[in-house]
Amino acid sequence: MSRFWSPIVEKLVPYTPGEQPKHQSFIKLNTNENPYGPSPLALEAIRSASDDGLRLYPDPAAADLRAAIASTLKLDASHVFAGNGSDEVLAHAFNAFFSGRDPILFADITYSFYKTYCELFSIDHRKVPLTEDFQINPQDYIGSCGGVVIANPNAPTGIAMGLESIEQILQQNRDVVVLVDEAYVDFGGDSAVGLVTHYENLIVTQTFSKSRSLAGMRVGFAVAQPHLIEALQRVKDSFNSYPLGRLAQVGAVAAWTDWDWFDKTRNLVIADRDRTSDALKKLGFEVLSSATNFVFASHEHIPAERLLSGLRERGILVRHFKQEPIRNWLRISIGTTEECDALLEAIASIVGE
Ligand SMILES: *Cc1c(COP(=O)(O)O)cnc(C)c1O
Repeated sequence: MSRFWSPIVEKLVPYTPGEQPKHQSFIKLNTNENPYGPSPLALEAIRSASDDGLRLYPDPAAADLRAAIASTLKLDASHVFAGNGSDEVLAHAFNAFFSGRDPILFADITYSFYKTYCELFSIDHRKVPLTEDFQINPQDYIGSCGGVVIANPNAPTGIAMGLESIEQILQQNRDVVVLVDEAYVDFGGDSAVGLVTHYENLIVTQTFSKSRSLAGMRVGFAVAQPHLIEALQRVKDSFNSYPLGRLAQVGAVAAWTDWDWFDKTRNLVIADRDRTSDALKKLGFEVLSSATNFVFASHEHIPAERLLSGLRERGILVRHFKQEPIRNWLRISIGTTEECDALLEAIASIVGE
């Protein structure tokens, strides 16, 4: 703390990202990165754009990328906003739609960045408890509020909710913005982007970090009706006109259009997720039904913190959250087939101790 800090900075509890070890080589199953690299076409596009053109500022509107995404979704580019990771898109959305309103609603167990943005932008919020079995119940999102944020599939539970539940929440909250964060949707969720033309209060965010294996490039986007997209653009152009560099823009366009790579790699992840879930159950774990590239698991006898340190000693990083009621759970990202095997072997040895 310093006497020069603003009262907001003094109170901030910044988001804590999973560890990125610098020196030791771990099997990293702690930050939901994709174990398979980005599309080779994306890497080629980035390489060939690495030239003298980098002296020039990039396209501030990321028009090619927005057009590519819009064309897949059978929408106009005016329905798409691109940002420096979906975290930045979320920040702009919180600022644009929730600031200065009644408390917004989100689940008590969800992506912890939502709370951080509320603190940063002085947005009131109310945490809505999940049901006993870690589900989001749309009935709990009724009544006056300043907006609703839903991660679907939810993190760190991995559980997806059906589009009829999303629609129920949209219909119950017609006068405020409902934001659906679909960071993991490509691994098994149903996307709400098809509802955008029907609901003027819906905004959907997605990312290139997970299913397109470009976490290191920082590209995310939002889909909504043009009146909401315009608000995001106003915030962006009051903050940083050039959130996406030239390499990120060309890389993202190439990654977006390489559907073969996308399908091949996500299917590998999905198959290993289901296999890993089954194997963990046989080792005595409760495993939630996952529609993501991670599993959320709790052992019937062995405390999560002991598994966490036992895995670390064996060179494997997974994620643990200290908060109740998920203190005894671990979030395990799905790695390559070999990494999943190594994980299961390490856990079997801890269980057998
Ligand atoms: C990973 C993640 C994001 C952010 O992804 P970016 O890398 O910033 O695009 C957003 N929401 C959830 C729930 C996530 O898990």
